[in-house]
Amino acid sequence: MKNITIYCFRNDLRLFDNAAFLKATIESDILLPLFCHPNNQLIHNDIQRIGIHRQTFLRQALNQLKDNLKSLNSDLLEVNGNIYEEIKKISEKIGATKIILEKIISPEELDQENSIRSIGIPVETFWQSSMIEPTELPFNLKNMPDIFTDFRKLIEANKILTKTPTLLPAELPPLPDINIEFVSNVNFPTSIKYECTSFPYLENQFYGGEKNALAHLENYLIKKLPHTYKETRNQLYGINFSTKFSPWLSLGSISARYIAFRIKEFENQHGANESTYWIWFELLWRDYFRFIHFKFGKKLYSKNGLSNNNNLINHNNENFNKWVQGETGNDLIDAGMKELRFTGYLSNRMRQIVASYLIYDLGCDWRKGALWFESQLIDYDVYSNQGNWLYIAGLGTDPRGGRKFNTKKQNLEYDPNNTYKKMWLN
Ligand SMILES: Cc1cc2nc3c(=O)[nH]c(=O)nc-3n(C[C@H](O)[C@H](O)[C@H](O)COP(=O)(O)OP(=O)(O)OC[C@H]3O[C@@H](n4cnc5c(N)ncnc54)[C@H](O)[C@@H]3O)c2cc1C
Repeated sequence: MKNITIYCFRNDLRLFDNAAFLKATIESDILLPLFCHPNNQLIHNDIQRIGIHRQTFLRQALNQLKDNLKSLNSDLLEVNGNIYEEIKKISEKIGATKIILEKIISPEELDQENSIRSIGIPVETFWQSSMIEPTELPFNLKNMPDIFTDFRKLIEANKILTKTPTLLPAELPPLPDINIEFVSNVNFPTSIKYECTSFPYLENQFYGGEKNALAHLENYLIKKLPHTYKETRNQLYGINFSTKFSPWLSLGSISARYIAFRIKEFENQHGANESTYWIWFELLWRDYFRFIHFKFGKKLYSKNGLSNNNNLINHNNENFNKWVQGETGNDLIDAGMKELRFTGYLSNRMRQIVASYLIYDLGCDWRKGALWFESQLIDYDVYSNQGNWLYIAGLGTDPRGGRKFNTKKQNLEYDPNNTYKKMWLN
């Protein structure tokens, strides 16, 4: 009997250092690379769950993946709709004997996996989105330390290293006999302000996709930017103040493991300092927000998060809408919210400030804020988004319990000449 595999890409849209895809290529006689477009239902009035910035960046990433697969005599089948129904239909049509997909442990994605399992043919899932393998951790994930600093210290004390990246597949098994045509209807955005954005994804160099992700990493290293990262990372605007790895990481166009591997090589060649360490440190935050999902699961998505107290929220939709539109009357917040809506990107510092303002100054539901970010951020990542919102709301694992930012103080410290505000308010 022939091994006929469906490889369903999720947030691992790459061929290099994709161990699960490599395994599929080795074990299959016939291989169908598939991408099922996620559900895009409305989340707020007429707001789509995946806003136009995310749609565009995803389209670019899929185009590159398709080209890469074609260069290896394969292709990418794209479908739209309910993932269970689509995979069921296709597997019946091609007589699939196995389905392989990336493991994602957030509640919605786990439900998807369970529904795919009910199709009745073997399903294999692979965890491959963290920098450190869960199996390398010096503790069982169910017992991982709640507090980031304790987690980090254990990783450092045990000298946990990231694994070497896996290779590109040398060749791909043939496709099944199936029609691959897919018509995409993304309307590329016109509202993006090129001259101001910190992540100009409509420019060639910043397109979504594996080729650009790898090129961006090399460019970042060639410019020796890792040596100054820690000093600049809290700035509010510009291309080079932070790494800008996150949009590509979020779709898996590049792996966190490979970034860590290249930063290590950079350190060996050009020297390590506090800044090069700090890139690793921030990527470890990314891992941490992933790993706490293994421990707390769905609880991270409830109104009270991990808190045992009832978190009283008096959500005000009018205030929420003003926040979304950048019309709160607080200039720093309005600048940030306009930047997010016009470009799909916001610096980490501004994300913290606007999230704190929504929760503590406007008294709104933090989960609504998280949904708005989900719709807008081109680097939307379910684990990092949920984890950071919970952290600021004081409902996660922060030992200090909540982070309220004073906008006047933040303004003085990070935008003393009001340059950032003027960029977005004029
Ligand atoms: C409310 C809120 C929501 C957020 N939502 C997301 C999200 O949906 N997707 C996302 O990738 N990041 C999210 N972040 C984290 C952070 O703001 C972004 O990762 C960062 O701004 C991306 O830009 P960069 O790649 O230049 O980051 P850099 O500063 O260059 O950091 C390097 C990498 O480290 C990781 N990283 C840095 N800071 C964090 C952090 N606080 N949490 C987790 N990982 C981090 C990212 O992968 C990033 O690419 C959120 C932060 C806040 C406060």
